[in-house]
Amino acid sequence: MSEEILINVSPVETRVALVDNGVLQELHVERTHRKGFVGNIYKGKVVRVLPGMQAAFVDIGLERTGFIHAQELVPEVPEGDSKRGELPDIRTLVREGQALVVQVSKDPISTKGARLTTHITLSSRYLVYMPNSPHIGVSIRIDDEAERGRLRSAVETAVKDGDGSGGFIVRTVAEGISADAVVADIPFLQKLWQDINQKLSALPVSSVVYEDMPLALRSLRDLARSPLEKIRVDSRQSWTQMREFANDYAPQLINLIECYQGERPLLDLYGVEDEIARALDTRVPLKSSGYLIVEQTEAMTTVDVNTGAFVGRRNLEETIFKTNMEAAGAIARQLRVRNIGGIIVLDFIDMQDPEHQRQVLRTLEKALEKDHAKTKITGVSELGLVEMTRKRTRESLGQMLCEPCPVCTGRGQVKSAETICYEVFREILREARAYDNDKFLVLAASVVVDRLLDEDAAYVADLEAFIGRTIEFQVEPLFNQEQYDIVLV
Ligand SMILES: [Zn+2]
Repeated sequence: MSEEILINVSPVETRVALVDNGVLQELHVERTHRKGFVGNIYKGKVVRVLPGMQAAFVDIGLERTGFIHAQELVPEVPEGDSKRGELPDIRTLVREGQALVVQVSKDPISTKGARLTTHITLSSRYLVYMPNSPHIGVSIRIDDEAERGRLRSAVETAVKDGDGSGGFIVRTVAEGISADAVVADIPFLQKLWQDINQKLSALPVSSVVYEDMPLALRSLRDLARSPLEKIRVDSRQSWTQMREFANDYAPQLINLIECYQGERPLLDLYGVEDEIARALDTRVPLKSSGYLIVEQTEAMTTVDVNTGAFVGRRNLEETIFKTNMEAAGAIARQLRVRNIGGIIVLDFIDMQDPEHQRQVLRTLEKALEKDHAKTKITGVSELGLVEMTRKRTRESLGQMLCEPCPVCTGRGQVKSAETICYEVFREILREARAYDNDKFLVLAASVVVDRLLDEDAAYVADLEAFIGRTIEFQVEPLFNQEQYDIVLV
């Protein structure tokens, strides 16, 4: 298995493709304007203390001052410790003019400034580091007691044996991951905090000290692991940053990072760009004549396996088996490329032979093993339905790159021109009763106007006679099929 990471950097977005044996397996996209401020650490300055609200305003160098509550200024109470007690008066915690190291916990929205906290956290792939807390815990989303114990004691031991300080929370994604891999993040995070502290003393107030790393660097942290053959990046600036980062935090990667200067766009290699476009389609063709239909709704995702053209009765069972086998591999890859999380129902084509059923399921399980996200098959029915889950980590590719269609607002269908015409008639009747005008002017899309002047012309004439007013039509080229306007003239 040879993996390669391709990083395409432009001023507006960064795209990272993980390619395995020439086939796209994962895609990560970061849009520059959507990045926000959450997680950034600032050396702020307290500009106003509000005793009545137990809060303070802190200048962090953004357009609006940030807001911090007394709760976010007192040391954190360890989990399970119930003696929370009364909050001290905010005036005993901060004073105006004082410098304060804060982290953004919520982005500024319209007129509200950013929400701030002094409970600093730094994340790595498997851990959240809390330099100002002694607490060690495990994400509540890992519910297996034995697994919680294993992870907690691995981290406790590593912290005790190391020479850094601070607390840790084991993230949900660490479930089932080897102790070595999980604790490898500990020195990385402690060193990161040391570096931040060194910068802090030298910086003026109201300035940013730490921003979460750009995607190019995060992929070195989160994606790069053996056996990796190469990391190619098409921006010299990112290349330099990545080498510096690797030099400090992951020296074993430094010789794998290559600045791509080829003629062809980087993501045209291995057809990644085409693969991305296909990953937004509902229909996925298989190499045999079959295809998948992938449908994502808010509650779950369904994948339907279909055979292609009709095949003779004699070969039917064999064709179905082959199609299901191919589909099993294709489904695993599509889930990963599309980054689909949550409940997933796979509808394989019915098979009679239990041995065939077993082999298809086995192929699916094997293909899912390669996934970095945690997957679990939760049920198999006699009808060929497989129910599974996949841990949701980020937005899916579709959510990231698309928005609901503005015409149908995601329904996938628009009202027919006929339906719109009848809506127009009802609306005219309603308005004719309410107003005493001479004429109606209907503005609508051309398909609707065409119909009103053609198939529905007789009805329009009847309607005009009934309300005693004329109705005129005008095509509005900017309107979609469902849009119309009725103007009183
Ligand atoms: Zn639509």
